[in-house]
Amino acid sequence: MSNHAGSYMLNEVITILDRHQAFAGMDETALRAVMREIVEMAKNEYDCNQGEILEGVAQQFHLCYYCLADNDNPADELCPTCRVDWD
Ligand SMILES: [Zn+2]
Repeated sequence: MSNHAGSYMLNEVITILDRHQAFAGMDETALRAVMREIVEMAKNEYDCNQGEILEGVAQQFHLCYYCLADNDNPADELCPTCRVDWD
């Protein structure tokens, strides 16, 4: 049983922070590291769901929705490796 409420709450917090440009001064590598750390902490310590945390935000942070790898394709929420496995 996943912590769906916690996952969606975190998604909303990330969205609010982004809307207020809290990440605007960070370079992309640092931002990706922050997002990965948040997701891993939420999964490991609070039983949150990665997909729910990253829903609608993974692409703007250039992360793969599924594996958290770098993903520079703005048209796809999955990295090329996961896209091949998914299709
Ligand atoms: Zn991936």
